[in-house]
Amino acid sequence: MFGNEGYTTLFRLRGMPVRIHWSFALGMMFIGGIRFVPGIWLGYFILVAAHELGHGFLARRYGCEVISLDVHGFGGLCSYRGQTTAYQRAVIAWGGVLAQGLLFGVTLAVGAALGPPGSDFHADLYYVFTRINVIIAALNLLPLNGFDGARAWQLPRMLWGARGRSSAGRDKEDLAAGFREKLERRSPGPFKAQQREAGDEAPVVRIERGPDGKVRIVAVESEREDTEGYH
Ligand SMILES: [Zn+2]
Repeated sequence: MFGNEGYTTLFRLRGMPVRIHWSFALGMMFIGGIRFVPGIWLGYFILVAAHELGHGFLARRYGCEVISLDVHGFGGLCSYRGQTTAYQRAVIAWGGVLAQGLLFGVTLAVGAALGPPGSDFHADLYYVFTRINVIIAALNLLPLNGFDGARAWQLPRMLWGARGRSSAGRDKEDLAAGFREKLERRSPGPFKAQQREAGDEAPVVRIERGPDGKVRIVAVESEREDTEGYH
């Protein structure tokens, strides 16, 4: 049932495979204890799947191919393939918590319209979609590597411009931010080997003479189709 990665595909959402990992059962025991709490289990699955769908939806908006939306015992992963700018990656990083916010709002609206949950199942769903939702979103936005926050919080800087930079258009801002990121990656650090394993390889900056005769940076991404993942 579960493939060599430990995942099995449950269904497809607009062509994007939604997969579940066997560790989901383990994670649910961690959260709900050894109790029969289907509302918690289903709620957690929907919450994580919605988060990954948020990433996937935006990645696809930028022309990427979404490989999978994964739910495992301790979170999830959205894998996609395609070429994106630093700006686009920062937007995609927000997709997860934006989807969670949407779920939060819909839950509050439904709760306000229908009154308090009438069963344990609905109460558990409500609990996961509100309280657990907020806790997971807050953790997710921590500005640490491996969390969405690391990339998400680059967006305000890109939108409003960094200090000392001329008021350039968004495209130019993209290139500048992308270029800076590449330069930073070029200095070898202790975690470089780990980054490569995670598929986070340093992309290539291509400098080319344009049709107007001016030399410019035309591609800040590698020629390969990079695979990216968001948790
Ligand atoms: Zn995420």
